[in-house]
Amino acid sequence: MLKRHVTVWAMLPALFAFVSCSRPKTVDDAALRSADQDTSNWLTYGRTYDDHRFSPLSQINEQTVSKLGLAWSRELGTTRGLEATPLVEDGVIYTTGSWSMVYAVDAKTGEIRWTYDPKVPRENAYFICCDVVNRGVALYKGKVFVGTLDGRLIALDEKSGAPVWTASTTDSAKQYSITGAPRIAKGMVIIGNAGAENGVRGYISAYDAETGKMAWRFYTVPGDPSKGFESKAMETAAKTWTGEYWKTGGGGTPWEGIVYDPALDLLYFGTGNATAWYRAIRGGGDSLYTASIIAVHANNGELAWYFQTTPGENWDYDATQPLMQADLTIGGRARKVIMQANKNGFFYVLDRETGEFISGAPFVSGVTWATGLDPKTGRPIESPGAADLKPVIVSPSPDGAHNWNPMAFSPTTGLVYLGAKVGTQFLHAPDPKWKYDAERSNLALDPMYDGPLAAKLGTLPPATGELVAWDPVAQKAAWRVKNPTVEDGGVLATGGNLVFQGRGDGTLVAYRATDGKELWTFDAGTGIMAPPVTYTVDGTQYLSVMVGWGGAPGLFNAPGSGPVKHGYGRILTFTLNGTATLKAPPYGHKDPPVPAITTNASPKTIHEGSLLFNSNCGPCHGINAVAGPVPDLRYATKEIHQDFENIVLGGNRASAGMPSFKNILNADQVKAIQAYIVSRARESSKK
Ligand code: CA
Repeated sequence: MLKRHVTVWAMLPALFAFVSCSRPKTVDDAALRSADQDTSNWLTYGRTYDDHRFSPLSQINEQTVSKLGLAWSRELGTTRGLEATPLVEDGVIYTTGSWSMVYAVDAKTGEIRWTYDPKVPRENAYFICCDVVNRGVALYKGKVFVGTLDGRLIALDEKSGAPVWTASTTDSAKQYSITGAPRIAKGMVIIGNAGAENGVRGYISAYDAETGKMAWRFYTVPGDPSKGFESKAMETAAKTWTGEYWKTGGGGTPWEGIVYDPALDLLYFGTGNATAWYRAIRGGGDSLYTASIIAVHANNGELAWYFQTTPGENWDYDATQPLMQADLTIGGRARKVIMQANKNGFFYVLDRETGEFISGAPFVSGVTWATGLDPKTGRPIESPGAADLKPVIVSPSPDGAHNWNPMAFSPTTGLVYLGAKVGTQFLHAPDPKWKYDAERSNLALDPMYDGPLAAKLGTLPPATGELVAWDPVAQKAAWRVKNPTVEDGGVLATGGNLVFQGRGDGTLVAYRATDGKELWTFDAGTGIMAPPVTYTVDGTQYLSVMVGWGGAPGLFNAPGSGPVKHGYGRILTFTLNGTATLKAPPYGHKDPPVPAITTNASPKTIHEGSLLFNSNCGPCHGINAVAGPVPDLRYATKEIHQDFENIVLGGNRASAGMPSFKNILNADQVKAIQAYIVSRARESSKK
């Protein structure tokens, strides 16, 4: 008896040791706060609460990176954009794909543990501005959280993928969507929404992670004053709007760029454009709190401060790009800052305790909408005519000098690494006759503008893409690397003195963090938009990235985007001495199209069809009918052409993601579009 006791007691330390290393440990507040020390996992969107996307791991480093090889690949069978940051907990990758699908994958082998399909109605696609993408999940206490394209927030059991609770975060009668990753702040799941282009009222909500009960909601723009304002913040904001703004929803949707500072207990996020796009059409005013960086108190969602990057927004300069926190010494003073490389072309450094503007500078050349920022307030100095009702060409384009694609900060080099787009141009032709219509997009852009600027646009120098290493203290670039493609992927920085970025041409590249020297490349088979992550399993360092080309740039497929590579989506994972080979299935058409039918449409009808196509069909089927991730209509078969009106107006292919346009187009317009497609097939067949 005694002997047995002794044995048991003697075993206990070993047992405790086993327990303390045993997995899984749960992702709780302590784990999230100390995520920087936990190099084996990648537990939250930006790896740490400050969103640095810097991993101290250094097995893969500037000396060894030449031996980096593929460990495994996992095909996902989609041709749409993949934008997710994979989260990694105890050797399992949790990530998302097209149509808000969720995947749990063994990080070492690539075997799928489970998948979850939220069955998003495919006909919703009309109201998704920028592809059926999703930027990832959040993990907390045994659950995986995903926001879906149709506005649901779903908690899944981490082990099985089975739904635990579902919260409907938006009014399904309105054209909201969710593409952003949820974030965790002290037991709450934080989720925003998108849809300002269609006309909705933006807000961010916090839900209890355990139960799915809403804890608070912060509206980003004021509602109908006759119903009373929800807060003082809304009352203040209403004074910056004109007319019956609430009838359009107002916009300001916070669709990405959410971070939490547990020390200050502040939650930061950016907001999108106002509805409609054009200030003069809205009637003037700053339109608070659109195009702003906002801080709210995490316990109740009340406004702490705001900084409006683009007052009276007019060019689709959403302020929803990643927000990064850092403690920097600026002008001899220790500052707690929050930083953003905004769509509008300026890099902002703000005091994250107060929202005070510290500094701002253009991180790309060729910004034309503003000549600079007021050095005291940070308010932009707009160029004359940039926001008039008269058509004007402005840079950056609505795709921005930088968009949602994550950036990284290396505490070793003190540099912020980001993918920038230089010299993107857009023709803003406001439609003074615009009236809000809940059934269609509400940009107030004149879709049929055919004036001289349309021709001029085609003569401007093409845009270029760069990887920029930005010194946020000096507000200048330390180095820049020119990329062959305009649009490129998110960025990862590591303790191996490396920066990783995928490109639109499907090349994953490792650069030396200190000077931008290219050290390693890999052909991923399809363009890359997503940011890589790194972690360890059983002591070995891995690097994973979602590969898949789409989003607004992929779907729109504008000429001059560079050698972008459309194709099938996959997860790729690398390790030193990895020996797997990638077999990317072929995608696209090898031969020129052959027109399947002939039409006797007049040149005038075909021209009208071109304008209708580019404004209605082009956002998905590609500008000038050259498509990427979705069917290229120049290759439409005779059967498709015979059924054309049924598809476009009758919604015959709604379940495949092609919605009905019966509220937007009439039968004659559909015929003109069809004639244009046939003429494009004819033109292309000759090449
Ligand atoms: Ca927008």
